[in-house]
Amino acid sequence: MTDTAPGLPSDMRLKDRFVRLIAATGPISVAQFVAESNARYYDSRDPLGSAGDFITAPEISQMFGELIGLWLADMWDRAGRPGPIHYVELGPGRGTLARDALGAARRFGLSPEIHFVEGSTALRAVQQSHFPKAHWHDDLASLPETGPLLIVANEFLDALPIRQLVMTASGWRERMVGIEGDRLVPIAGTQPMDAAVPAELASAHEGAILETSPAAAAVTREIARRLATQGGAALVIDYGRAEPAYGSSLQALRAHTKVNPFECPGEADLTAHVDFSVLRPVVEAEGARWLGTVEQGAFLISLGLGPRMEALCRAAPDKAQAVRAAAHRLAAPEAMGSLFKVMGLAAPGWPTGAGFPAGG
Ligand code: SAH
Repeated sequence: MTDTAPGLPSDMRLKDRFVRLIAATGPISVAQFVAESNARYYDSRDPLGSAGDFITAPEISQMFGELIGLWLADMWDRAGRPGPIHYVELGPGRGTLARDALGAARRFGLSPEIHFVEGSTALRAVQQSHFPKAHWHDDLASLPETGPLLIVANEFLDALPIRQLVMTASGWRERMVGIEGDRLVPIAGTQPMDAAVPAELASAHEGAILETSPAAAAVTREIARRLATQGGAALVIDYGRAEPAYGSSLQALRAHTKVNPFECPGEADLTAHVDFSVLRPVVEAEGARWLGTVEQGAFLISLGLGPRMEALCRAAPDKAQAVRAAAHRLAAPEAMGSLFKVMGLAAPGWPTGAGFPAGG
């Protein structure tokens, strides 16, 4: 990630850098604001877990990663056990999902080469302590070109920059970040953006916001292209919506509490809901199979969350209450079960994965 303002000290608070930059050269786009904030945020820390800013499904329970590992092993097995086979995880965090998934997959004879796409120096160090032989990548471009890929991304797309458009009295404008005194505030840009809005969403009341994530679409396109040319399958898991909608979903989490996303850039995790509805055509245009987008709760239950939970309870009765609470958190509609979605992708000729409607 490039510096916002060459010449300013790199250890300066990002908020102060933005204020100086905007004062000098004018408002910046929400996309630039999110990209630079998250690059600074992730690079310097391990944000996960109870002592951090947020918690994710693999950190809640081993059951999450184990079921994903079984899904991958089942796909690979039914595809005829092709090799060389690569496990690719985008934004692996602490490596917990990879450990649980690969541990479960190994019991079915799947021991792939491991590739991590990770931008954060701090998190790469944590991953390396568990997977000294893994290969690290800055983005998908340097992944191996031969052999099928088994790709997993949990809470990766939500951290990528979004663009926002806002309806004003004079039409759609890009939503920008400007300054009011020494505060960063969202404002409408000056360039007309009406041509960027699809006809069915174009008429909206003043103040309506539309979000798009060109970065999430680009990552999805590259996953689909790789699957179509190399074989393999992918699970992309995130919170988001299956239908387009108005409104800003940009949020910031700090110490498990929502804070104003414009208040402390680089010091809180900025995320936005993933719009899964726009990703299906992206997948299909590249020649990969879109298996469906299903709710996380239904997906985990169909893969055997219940029996796995019971087995863990029997093995460690003293932990049974915690195991049941974790399963509930992952799958219940009022917890993560409905908001989080699982999008399945596969190469042409690969099976329709467990947990997805047959025929996609
Ligand atoms: N998948 C993990 C971590 C989710 S947090 C889990 O479920 O626990 C988001 C992860 O994506 C972190 O590992 C973060 O460093 C990484 N990340 C965020 N933006 C990125 C980018 N633009 N390029 C590469 N990695 C990124």
